[in-house]
Amino acid sequence: MAPVPGSGLAKGLAVTLRTMTKKTVTEQYPDVQPDLPPRTRGVIGLFEENCTVCMLCARECPDWCIYIDSHKETIPAATPGGRERSRNVLDRFAIDFSLCMYCGICIEVCPFDALFWSPEFEYAETDIRDLTHERDKLREWMWTVPAPPALDPGAEEPKELTTARRTAEKLTPHTEPQTTGPQATEPRPAKPQVTDAQATRPEVTEPHATEQARAAEQPTRPLGDSKQQTDQPRPDREGDA
Ligand code: SF4
Ligand code: SF4
Repeated sequence: MAPVPGSGLAKGLAVTLRTMTKKTVTEQYPDVQPDLPPRTRGVIGLFEENCTVCMLCARECPDWCIYIDSHKETIPAATPGGRERSRNVLDRFAIDFSLCMYCGICIEVCPFDALFWSPEFEYAETDIRDLTHERDKLREWMWTVPAPPALDPGAEEPKELTTARRTAEKLTPHTEPQTTGPQATEPRPAKPQVTDAQATRPEVTEPHATEQARAAEQPTRPLGDSKQQTDQPRPDREGDA
């Protein structure tokens, strides 16, 4: 059947009218920044202090877009006769975001919490080679990683915080011995303040002070001689009756 002349125009106008009455969903980016969810997968940040160069992330990455170089370093023994230790030192850590498919496997498998998602997404480049982010750039992304959600009120302290606190207590040179129980939390009484004048004052030389000291050394009189004693009524003796 031949199409009715003008039916296409009528259909188009109908679509236009229908769309005009709907709420617009267009975001005015870049004039208005999008309101992204906190767990958005924008870019990966590296906290290299936590990285032990275990290579797990590079091995598990399905795109083989993580490049890690390292060398071994020998740490001398801490005590005489002790054993030397060796550790891996990171030389290069890079992620090629032109290959990355944002699966998040590297972040999931990292056993030392060295990789994190950042919601930043504005890192487009005109040269594809610039999409390989080296460790310095990956560290910069770390400062855009949102803070983790707060713990439940009754939750245990995270083991990282406990370990860090114990290490800080060990490293503090003048830490006083800890006591347990409620005494540990009681405030100490404040020490009396000594002014400069008091600190330089000589030994007590006032005459009344020395007199008081002498009087204290003299033997006390028997109670019978004191006026207070004589004023009191004496007990009746048998001869007085
Ligand atoms: S997100 Fe996936 S593809 Fe991207 S670097 Fe990590 S493991 Fe590789
Ligand atoms: S898995 Fe974590 S600790 Fe191991 S090399 Fe990758 S980032 Fe470093």
